[in-house]
Amino acid sequence: MQHIAFIGLGNMGAPMARNLVAAGFHVSVFDLAPAAVASLVEAGATAAASASAAVQTADAVITMLPANKHVQELYLAAGGVLDSAKPGALFIDCSTIAADVARQVAQAASERGFAMIDAPVSGGTAGAAAGTLTFIVGGSEAALQQARPLLEKMGKNIFHAGEAGAGQVAKICNNMLLGILMAGTAEALNLGVAHGLDPKVLSDIMAKSSGRNWTLEVYNPWPGVMDGTPASRNYTGGFGTALMLKDLGLAQQSALSANAPTPLGGLVRQLYQMHAQAGYAQQDFSSIVQMLQPGLNKPA
Ligand code: NAD
Repeated sequence: MQHIAFIGLGNMGAPMARNLVAAGFHVSVFDLAPAAVASLVEAGATAAASASAAVQTADAVITMLPANKHVQELYLAAGGVLDSAKPGALFIDCSTIAADVARQVAQAASERGFAMIDAPVSGGTAGAAAGTLTFIVGGSEAALQQARPLLEKMGKNIFHAGEAGAGQVAKICNNMLLGILMAGTAEALNLGVAHGLDPKVLSDIMAKSSGRNWTLEVYNPWPGVMDGTPASRNYTGGFGTALMLKDLGLAQQSALSANAPTPLGGLVRQLYQMHAQAGYAQQDFSSIVQMLQPGLNKPA
């Protein structure tokens, strides 16, 4: 498997594609934004004039797109990538989308004789650049084995969650929990500070006590507590509030379709909805702390 088509060269897709080029694959790239394509060509990739042109001779096709509708259009529209790929090509969709949509697209691929996995990622833009992403895969074991040599060049951990769509379900469970942990951590820190505690001292205490969690340990939402976090650079970079809101919405749709109660997931989606509407959509999701403490760092 030498020739890879990579479609969707945004914050995540561009560094992932760069790692494949660096690993020696022949990578044909396409994005709607010409500047994104140009930056990959500089790194050694080949520009394609369209998504269908990119996939025509590819052994594997990787897509990294924003949301459901982009994936549906690219895969399911007449003349889309499933109509243009060569027989035997493997499809890997790394976008975070609804499990139902992932199953729909995998079914369409299978009807045309293609193997496909959903492989959403965790690890953010830093993980994408460093090649240390976690891939959470749904699909057959055989398709995963085929994809493994590629995934290993872009990530460090590869989990097989189950059949088609299962990667998306696991990803959404993780991000729902992350949203809840972030909002909870922000609330606890704000309570302590309201009583005069130093947020760094309180963070150190909780990080070594039973409230310990990832947002306290590596992604503290309070400005100045931890170097290198979005909170310490005015909530820029990182994982945007709008993307977290999208994932929390996907979690609620999944909950409805499975009749699963998710009271905290529902509440935190509402909190992030209000936060986005208050002007923080483009800021990092840890900025939710400003809902409780509006003076901390308001967007301009
Ligand atoms: P992004 O908006 O930066 O990039 C998406 C890219 O897709 C853009 O360059 C856009 O031009 C391109 N695109 C859209 N439709 C296209 C089409 N039809 N053909 C070709 N290109 C098209 O988004 P991102 O941050 O790279 O995120 C991509 C996905 O990864 C999302 O589903 C997101 O939820 C998920 N994700 C993001 C992060 C993160 O930290 N940013 C972390 C994990 C997962």
